[in-house]
Amino acid sequence: MSSKEKAVLVTGGAGYIGSHMVLTLLEAGYAVVVLDNLANASQESLRRVAKLAGTAPEFVEGDIRDRQCLDALFAQYAISHVLHFAGLKAVGESVAEPLRYYENNVFGTLTLCQAMATAGVYRLVFSSSATVYGNGQPLPIHEGLPTGRPTNPYGTSKLMVENMLQDLARADERWSIALLRYFNPVGAHASGRIGEDPNGKPNNLVPFIAQVAVGRREALSVFGNDYPTPDGTGVRDYIHVLDLVEGHLAAMNVLVSRSGASVWNLGTGRGYSVLDMVQAFEHASGQPVPYRVEPRREGDIAECWADPARAYQELGWQASRGLDDMLADTWRWQLANPEGYAGPNKPAH
Ligand code: NAD
Ligand code: UDP
Repeated sequence: MSSKEKAVLVTGGAGYIGSHMVLTLLEAGYAVVVLDNLANASQESLRRVAKLAGTAPEFVEGDIRDRQCLDALFAQYAISHVLHFAGLKAVGESVAEPLRYYENNVFGTLTLCQAMATAGVYRLVFSSSATVYGNGQPLPIHEGLPTGRPTNPYGTSKLMVENMLQDLARADERWSIALLRYFNPVGAHASGRIGEDPNGKPNNLVPFIAQVAVGRREALSVFGNDYPTPDGTGVRDYIHVLDLVEGHLAAMNVLVSRSGASVWNLGTGRGYSVLDMVQAFEHASGQPVPYRVEPRREGDIAECWADPARAYQELGWQASRGLDDMLADTWRWQLANPEGYAGPNKPAH
């Protein structure tokens, strides 16, 4: 990449959502720089992205908390936008190690913003989460609702960053910031070459079901069947990871002619229960997904789905892939890579 060419910086670009973002950007003709400390990712994801795209992103192994590393990166590349995915995301771990989460997610983002301002880069897209709405919101959840009280330090770190970025945009009109509140990202690229590769036992429903279907785990634990929902199990708004990253492209384009901080939900507007997901996965995979009902998981809410109207009106974006696509793509990835990136498909270098 020539030093004058404008590029998009993707922090956390080796991770699950980031790697799909990098592929979509490369396919759309953008020059891409990835910054990742590989805390929860393998560089193998980026090797595969480069093969799929026929062109590679620049890769900087480094940390968003490292100001020197950021200054050197901004000095080397002409960055037009920062898509900021880097962060820690395991809810249970955040309860056990809150300071690690606040340092990575809050201090890390603060340091990134300081380096951006010094470099004169003011367009930022932040990976937020529907968790900032907290409990007890009327459905569907729209962006005009006040944020709530997240039930764990991970969620609090997302809300703290949102508040910090709102203050920053109010203080200096050069900033143009998108706060994208994700609902439940699932699925994988249709090639089956890149996907979600959780460390150890998956916390999230779809990776867990996929590991049961492929025979890595015996049965799914369904966390509660006594919620006030049609079948008693929790209901969520699952969104295909490729729809999600296309929402980022739309936000990037709108930021060019916008100032301030804007909030957009990225969801489909449809909710599915845990048992809906089990049934749909069995259909997509042709494999049984045995499950047993267990007590509710602490901090879980009964149901949650997005009102995606604002993103449609202001970004011209809406999710287009349905549940069958999400689960067929998850299954293709899982089947081809039963051990994730660490499996036998990993080249020996
Ligand atoms: P991921 O863990 O796969 O990706 C995050 C990436 O950031 C990893 O590659 C990791 O190595 C890197 N990273 C972590 N700390 C870093 C640091 N200090 N410096 C540099 N790199 C660092 O997670 P993901 O599912 O791709 O999520 C991406 C973003 O979206 C995260 O901010 C997450 O909180 C947010 N989000 C995810 C979900 C979800 O369900 N996956 C839902 C809502 C929001
Ligand atoms: N869930 C479950 N078993 C699992 C993981 C999740 O029954 O092993 C349920 C969980 O209670 C919730 C839904 O599946 O109702 C989605 O959970 P996930 O952790 O994927 O997303 P989040 O809770 O963050 O929305």
